[in-house]
Amino acid sequence: MTRLAGKRALITGAARGIGLAFAQRYAREGAQVALADIDIAQARTAAKGIGPQATALEMDVSRQDSIETAVADAVSHMGGIDILINNAAIFTAAPIVEITRADYSRVFEINVAGTLFTLQAVARHMIEQGTGGKIINMASQAGRRGEALVAIYCASKAAVISLTQSAGLNLIRHGINVNAIAPGVVDGEHWNGVDAFFAKYEDKAPGQKKKEVGEAVPFGRMGRAEDLTGMAVFLASSEADYIVAQTYNVDGGNWMS
Ligand code: NAD
Repeated sequence: MTRLAGKRALITGAARGIGLAFAQRYAREGAQVALADIDIAQARTAAKGIGPQATALEMDVSRQDSIETAVADAVSHMGGIDILINNAAIFTAAPIVEITRADYSRVFEINVAGTLFTLQAVARHMIEQGTGGKIINMASQAGRRGEALVAIYCASKAAVISLTQSAGLNLIRHGINVNAIAPGVVDGEHWNGVDAFFAKYEDKAPGQKKKEVGEAVPFGRMGRAEDLTGMAVFLASSEADYIVAQTYNVDGGNWMS
């Protein structure tokens, strides 16, 4: 299968988890991939594991200078960018009365500003390149509704869904499709962190929250990073040319919209 043959993809937060699964799958589909992450050591190891079609880039999506440098490096290394996946994000949880402004700012700088300004930098390049492109933002079922302990993260992912709509409507005139994927609960290091928050705030044993959310998925288990790669390939392919400003749930049936 080489559905992305000749394409050049920049994937943020690709050192591990879902972003890494996207990079591995894109490479198998024939794309060149730039794995951009704040954890450059892990991104290098990950890129090495994929092979010569992968490169690692240091990038902190919460810093404008880092966004501009990483996008320029990706362009010079691959000769251009046809696909962007805005995947880097962080999670936080707290009861409303314990939320801090510092935590709010950190999450919004990475999850929201990081998504918007990486999208902007890549869109400018794609417009100049003149051959359109595909931009995929990582939203979440958390962006579909609030959760008692997860106000900041839920609001950040609701913002990603909204930005996907606005950017999708604005950029399609340049042949740039902006869409998003909303996963449900995906096992991995991210969810180990989520589990730890719930152990603290709901007084659960470690691993208990994970077990509960997995059992509650209509499909019958938590998602795996690989469960998301089919949608990421489809949205990056020419088969998705007529899809504009949408957010797709890939969550085993957790949410319907
Ligand atoms: P993860 O925590 O395993 O990986 C996130 C990656 O982003 C890490 O490699 C990390 O180093 C990197 N990163 C963090 N801050 C960064 C920054 N400032 N600049 C650049 N890179 C940075 O997360 P994951 O489970 O692979 O999730 C990937 C995406 O999917 C995220 O957008 C997440 O919100 C979303 N999502 C995940 C789940 C889930 O259950 N795992 C569910 C819904 C949505």
